[in-house]
Amino acid sequence: MNAPARFDSLPRFASSLKAIESLKPSEPLYLVHPEKFAAAAKQFLDGFDGDVLYAVKANPHPIALRHLWDAGIRHFDTASLGEIESVKGLLPDAICHFMAPVRLAGQAKCAFELHGVTDFVVDSESELDKLLAETGDPKKLRVFVRLVASLGGALLEMSSKYGCRPEEASKLLKRVAQAGALPCLTFHVGSQCLSPFSYAQAIEIAQRTITLSGVEIAALDIGGGFPTAYAGQEPPPYHWYFDMIKEALANLGKHDLKVMCEPGRALVAQGISLVTQVVMRRGDRLYLNDGIYGSFDEQRFAGFDEDYPPSGITLDAKGKAKILTGEKRPFRAYGPTCDSADVLPRPVMLPDSIATGDFVLFDAMGAYTVSSRSAFNGYYPDGWAIIG
Ligand SMILES: *Cc1c(COP(=O)(O)O)cnc(C)c1O
Repeated sequence: MNAPARFDSLPRFASSLKAIESLKPSEPLYLVHPEKFAAAAKQFLDGFDGDVLYAVKANPHPIALRHLWDAGIRHFDTASLGEIESVKGLLPDAICHFMAPVRLAGQAKCAFELHGVTDFVVDSESELDKLLAETGDPKKLRVFVRLVASLGGALLEMSSKYGCRPEEASKLLKRVAQAGALPCLTFHVGSQCLSPFSYAQAIEIAQRTITLSGVEIAALDIGGGFPTAYAGQEPPPYHWYFDMIKEALANLGKHDLKVMCEPGRALVAQGISLVTQVVMRRGDRLYLNDGIYGSFDEQRFAGFDEDYPPSGITLDAKGKAKILTGEKRPFRAYGPTCDSADVLPRPVMLPDSIATGDFVLFDAMGAYTVSSRSAFNGYYPDGWAIIG
């Protein structure tokens, strides 16, 4: 992950403008906002009635893990042995849950024996057999059967690759119970889910599965998908989601049911902004120093038509950083690599006065950015500073 060895000694500035003014970064610079990590974690820990698991793939960087831990997050949804090892390496007391339904051979065994992981997901008979064989002690396991929950409320669906329908899920639940493990259910309504109602519908699917199987489940994990605010879009407040979920859970009528959620994006998106420099302006084209192969990887997904809120910033004659004002116009923003596909899919709205050498600050860059950047063509965004 190329984490800075001592990220607690990163440069610190009072504001994003001060950081830009002082560093004049010619390479992409991630600005970390600790209070935003803390606020996001608090909303979930206070508002959600159950265990809050941070979905590590949204941002596995030690800076994100450490800030969430400091904010009180103790559970981690880890989908690979690599994620478990990075979480436990940094936070030895963290509780990891292996929430991927298809695991590489040997990873469940290693997670169980070396890292004390006892929660696993399955969506097929063969993965259940493999899990039981690798761990060898079913009484210690909670096995979550993953349901399909494609309800149309989310920008990125999460049910075409994993999950099974209630009929198949109920068979799996019975097999889990027969094997002596604790049967549980889980689903993912899709990422950036703008409809709180999707969770209620998915809980109904869980209810149908429970009824079909006749099995008492020990826990229900309602997955991730909680949205964050991007440019021009305020999603519904989280308490609408929590209220809707609470009501749907009450209808299940199981008071001792353990409940979990797995937010990824919602816990980290607002905690990081990104400073890019305009390497060159040519007409309505901006050539930036970061793009699709770096921090903007998620923009390549057709369904994900969300944009990171941009601000144009310039250094005035005295070297002071100023936010550019004035009427905005659309720019086509290219990344630094030689690939023609390295261009943001939608125009970036910025003041017409933006020029070569200026900066574009993108907010809400904490989720699925740092985690999926690549070093393609020799550009790897990895500058860091702390704000506040
Ligand atoms: C990716 C993922 C999450 C996190 O999803 P967000 O939309 O970022 O909240 C949670 N659970 C599972 C199983 C995932 O694959």
